[in-house]
Amino acid sequence: MEAAIEIDDLRKRYGDVTALDGVSLSVPEGSFFGLLGPNGAGKTTFINILVGLVRKSGGEARVFGHDVETEYREARDRIGLAPQEFNVDRFFPIREVLEHKAGYHGIPADEARERADAALKQVGIYEKRDTRFDWLSGGMKRRFLIARALVTDPDLLILDEPTAGVDVQLRHDLWELITELNEGGTTILLTTHYIEEAERLCDEVAILDQGQVATVSTPDELMDRGTDRITVTFRD
Ligand code: ATP
Repeated sequence: MEAAIEIDDLRKRYGDVTALDGVSLSVPEGSFFGLLGPNGAGKTTFINILVGLVRKSGGEARVFGHDVETEYREARDRIGLAPQEFNVDRFFPIREVLEHKAGYHGIPADEARERADAALKQVGIYEKRDTRFDWLSGGMKRRFLIARALVTDPDLLILDEPTAGVDVQLRHDLWELITELNEGGTTILLTTHYIEEAERLCDEVAILDQGQVATVSTPDELMDRGTDRITVTFRD
């Protein structure tokens, strides 16, 4: 099977800071892959390289066989990203925000409307389509970020700490939603601080620690081994 993500000896330095120090990983197509690690481990940098927001200092990064820098467009069009930060256009109804995004990706206007509506239905906030982002509740904002990632019908969905700081009910709702997406065939890369979340959702988990892969295993193996050495933080 083709790898959704193939990383070899990936390196990133910001001045004197080494954020990624020789990361090699392979994420199989269709899998639910977890990326864990303490604050500053390099998770967001890793994601930002995949989506072309940050240039790597060395190594290789491919998405569905496409180099993320030299074949940026081909790679990027396969990825939907729900980022940690809410960098959303606040002045338009959320449906229009999704239509603009679809348009930016070359989807014609009539199809963009259909895609926007389908994505809003998928995450359960279609009835809020004429509302601005700022007027949504915190939980709806999270759902909207996932809808925005889905509007281009990505093969790889990257979720950067999608459940950080949300209440238990919403966390369970989001888990259900992303599990369904994975069962529908979408490859998921999820970053999280919650080991329970990784255990519940992921087929495979990589622990990043100080820019290096400390371990790659199934969540069960990880739990059996104990997490004390790996410094995964619990924020609940
Ligand atoms: P968190 O869980 O807190 O989001 P993270 O695992 O996502 O952390 P990164 O945000 O990738 O980690 O940061 C990795 C390292 O790179 C940290 O030491 C961070 O301070 C540094 N870093 C990240 N972005 C920049 C930047 N633009 N300029 C300088 N240093 C940076």
